[in-house]
Order: sequence, then structure tokens, then C-alpha cells
Amino acid sequence: MNFLTDEMEGNLTRWLRFLGYNTLYAKDYESIYGSPVADDDLIEQCFIEHRILITRDREMVNRFKKKYKKIIQENPDIYLKFDINPSLTPCILLNSTKFAENMSAIFKKFNIRLNYDSKIARCSKCNSNIEIIEDKKKFREKIPDSVYQNIDEFWVCTNKDCNKIYWIGGHFKEIFNRLAEIKKYI
Ligand SMILES: [Zn+2]
Repeated sequence: MNFLTDEMEGNLTRWLRFLGYNTLYAKDYESIYGSPVADDDLIEQCFIEHRILITRDREMVNRFKKKYKKIIQENPDIYLKFDINPSLTPCILLNSTKFAENMSAIFKKFNIRLNYDSKIARCSKCNSNIEIIEDKKKFREKIPDSVYQNIDEFWVCTNKDCNKIYWIGGHFKEIFNRLAEIKKYI
């Protein structure tokens, strides 16, 4: 399952990437379409790239559904490319202002995983894959001193323009708390 998130969903975007989902954000398309990207262009991208649309814009969801209905009548095989249960439409309208409620709504509809796995996690900043760092010395200048001294396992974003470094440290306590909070709504 891949996702496309509307402009207000920066936080959800980072979390879905972190959980291992290929997720592009409305702003990621500004280099193609200019700013802001029109709803119809984002909907079009969902069909080109087979991404599930995540938005809180009801009108956008209505337009998406109308287009989806027409497309599947012409080409029923498109279901398979979205990698979802065929009884579902590959879009979700979010209703809450609370992060945990919205994540649980996405879970309830698409059964997303709510556990962190470093083997499949993606860069929360740019959506690229991350890979384990074999020798942390090579990244010495990019890692804070206390972290470098206490932690041995690091990952780096494979996008050379990003190269963000990841590690499982004290900040994961907050991450696990948030995952537990999401599960409370399920
Ligand atoms: Zn990155």
C-alpha cells in the first residue's frame, strides 16, 4: 500500500513513512505542478502511482470516488495495483483534529501496521529507503556526541541529498507512547 497525503497532513506523512509506507505529500508534487498543487492533479497522481488518498477535504474525496468508479468500470484490474481489499475505495476522509484518532481511522480502514520495524522504515523527511550503517565512524560528524558514545546501531537515508541519520534512542519512548495512544482508539 502506498499513500498520497493532502497538504495539511505533514505529521501523518512522516509517521506513515516511519512505519514503512511509501508516502508522498502534496508538497512533494510542487516541483511538477507549482504551488499549491490543484486537487485534481493530486487525484490524478493517485491513479498514476496507485496511491491511497488521505485528506480531510470532503469535496476532494467526492471527486476521487467519482473518478475511481469510472476508472474501475473501464479497467477492473486497477484494484490489484492499490493492494487493498477490493471492497474499499482507495481514499480516506479524516474527520478528527487529533493525530491518534486519524491514525486509528487509517488503521481501521486499511489495516496498516502500527509497529516500528527498522528493516522497512523509510526516511520520514524524504520517503527514501534507509539502510543500516556498517561503520558509524564514517558519520561521526553528523551524530551528537552523547548518542555516538552510547549507541552502536544507526541507519542512514539512501537519498544522497538527504542522508538523514536515524537511531533508536531516548526519543523512541515518545514514539512508543504515541503508538500506544493510537491503539487506544482501535
Ligand atoms: Zn531522506
